[in-house]
Amino acid sequence: MKVKAAAKINLMLDVLGTLPDGYHSLFMIMQSVDCCDTVEVNLAKTKDAGISIRTADERVPKDERNIAFKAAQAFFEATKAENPGIEIAIEKKIPMAAGLAGGSADAAGVLYCLNTIFKTDLPLLELARIGERVGADVPFSLIGGTALCMDKGGVIAPLRPLQNCSVLLCKPDMGVSTVSAYKLIDSAPRIRHTDKNAMLYAMHNSDYKLLCEKADNVFEQVVEVPKRPYIKGIMREYGADLTLMSGSGPTVYGLFSDAQSAEACANMLRRDFREVYVCAPVEHGIEVIEL
Ligand code: ATP
Repeated sequence: MKVKAAAKINLMLDVLGTLPDGYHSLFMIMQSVDCCDTVEVNLAKTKDAGISIRTADERVPKDERNIAFKAAQAFFEATKAENPGIEIAIEKKIPMAAGLAGGSADAAGVLYCLNTIFKTDLPLLELARIGERVGADVPFSLIGGTALCMDKGGVIAPLRPLQNCSVLLCKPDMGVSTVSAYKLIDSAPRIRHTDKNAMLYAMHNSDYKLLCEKADNVFEQVVEVPKRPYIKGIMREYGADLTLMSGSGPTVYGLFSDAQSAEACANMLRRDFREVYVCAPVEHGIEVIEL
């Protein structure tokens, strides 16, 4: 079975504190965009093959360090389905260590496929509960569209879709480790928190102008991305309504109500950056390509 798994951007990202189990309590408003990895899951030809991962991208781990591998383990553990041996093939298109939930999208793709292949037929929200054990962005990557995700990422409320705009992604040539970004949040003397009420009001009323005003990401206060002001400046020059870092970075995105301006801005940014993509918001996380 083959699926496309979408990247996400954060329209809002805040860290509210610490949960009783020690994890961070998150407030994330997410949007899926059509920058996708392809994930294929098949039964292995030989028995007792365990879980194997194939990918042409040398930077992607092929063992239990791969979050897609962890998702498969979590699936078999939670459902008690017996693993007869599975093969996972991942084609990367989503930039890595970018703040776009690339690994989480792959994990979500694997969970979706296994749920179909093994006929466990868990509702998406149940599957998302399994995903939550693997990573905070996995539940959203499964559900997709536009949503508020709280707590460890698994408390999800769908929101009205973001429409009629282009999303320009620009990843500077550096990676950010999510773990170290959270350490920076923990050690920061003070964090200026986001205006959640106004943002939810904007989302609920599809008020694009207010959304662009209130969109915010606390990681911009602690994660240093030297090229961020430069990228934002160019995006603004070309008419972006909003420029913000996604996740713990370093990807900066711009929202454009005019698609041609987004394309023109992308061409400009490509002079300096390798990873620049013009995307559209999409209403799903996983799309089945082949059953
Ligand atoms: P998030 O926004 O969820 O924090 P990210 O975009 O910042 O995600 P990823 O691309 O998911 O980060 O991966 C970060 C690191 O995780 C990579 O450098 C890689 O070593 C490891 N990794 C594990 N599984 C995967 C995967 N399936 N695809 C890409 N990287 C993976």
